[in-house]
Amino acid sequence: MISNVSLYTTEHGSVTIAPLPEGFPIEPTFDSYGRRINYLRISLTDACNLRCVYCMPEDMHFRPRSELMADEELLYLVKIAASLGVNKIRLTGGEPTIRPGIVDLVQAIAATPGIQDLAMTTNGILLDKLARPLAEAGLKRVNISIDTLDADKFHRITRWGYLDDVWRGIRAAEESGLTPIKLNAVVVRNFNDGQDMVDLAQLTVENDWEVRFIEMMPFGEIGDFQQTNVVTYAEMKERIEAHFGPLEEVGYDYVDPSRPFRIQGAMGTVGFISSVTEPFCQGCGRVRLTADGKLRLCLLRDDEVDLLSPLRAGASWEELRALMRNGVYHKPWGHDLAAGRFAENRAMNQLGG
Ligand code: SAM
Ligand code: SF4
Repeated sequence: MISNVSLYTTEHGSVTIAPLPEGFPIEPTFDSYGRRINYLRISLTDACNLRCVYCMPEDMHFRPRSELMADEELLYLVKIAASLGVNKIRLTGGEPTIRPGIVDLVQAIAATPGIQDLAMTTNGILLDKLARPLAEAGLKRVNISIDTLDADKFHRITRWGYLDDVWRGIRAAEESGLTPIKLNAVVVRNFNDGQDMVDLAQLTVENDWEVRFIEMMPFGEIGDFQQTNVVTYAEMKERIEAHFGPLEEVGYDYVDPSRPFRIQGAMGTVGFISSVTEPFCQGCGRVRLTADGKLRLCLLRDDEVDLLSPLRAGASWEELRALMRNGVYHKPWGHDLAAGRFAENRAMNQLGG
């Protein structure tokens, strides 16, 4: 079990973290546009057991572990975020389930004062074994990525993945109470933008799940491929409606990035995440922590604040808190994709969605 130690050893040697204050006060934090920032997405690792074509090249090189946050560092930054009013955390990656000690880490994050909601985005491959221990450790929900129900296509799109493993993971998540189940599908032109979408949407008819279709976003080296092959929200909705008839909108709050609809008579919902063509920045209360300890202010912009280096250099609780608060205050309004500018410094596997 991870404790609040102030001296610990990582691959890069012994590090002393400034002691935590006894029971920290929690104050809400706002950005300069008045948006309350209460949601932190943490990339636990940039590495992955798959190589989805829209996410990373097959010969991807990952950061050495010494450059990534150790558990103690991550937990310290989580506590600072909680003291600034973050009450929701989503763990992502790369693939979060491959991080060593993931169950203990989940337990420690879930036990952090102020954290009310702890979820995970995963490819589901390892959930068959991990869903129950993760649920027992305090994880509440999972979003599982599944871009097609065609096993061959699934293998091609993920390069290394087997659809059956994901199905086992979905069932294990449901049985362990990691609900409501949300399934994420990135839609890629001429790949899974036809019958695959219909098959995925069909799942919501008899399951109380949300299937969310995501517009592919451009990043770094593969940004041109992503921009050329994006399928817009309008196109996706048209395709679903061509098969199932008009979708009924069921309330979009601009807080959850997914805009939910229901196929007539369905138990679950179909959602669309239109980050590229219809951004939802007005309701964005999210910031991100990259696996190498940078506070990322907007998924689709390069603006970041380094927290890990000062932490390793001995910055105090108050100094780190000021860095985080100041960073959050300067969160940009939104992205600049319409002007043809996209984030260059990282690929999706380092950001986690
Ligand atoms: N490995 C986990 C997974 O696949 O769910 C978590 C990390 S993954 C980067 C988080 C989400 O981002 C997944 O739903 C994935 O499909 C999505 N994603 C990856 N690359 C994307 C891109 N270029 N545009 C939009 N979504 C993307
Ligand atoms: Fe791995 Fe998720 Fe990226 Fe696919 S989308 S390569 S599963 S991090």
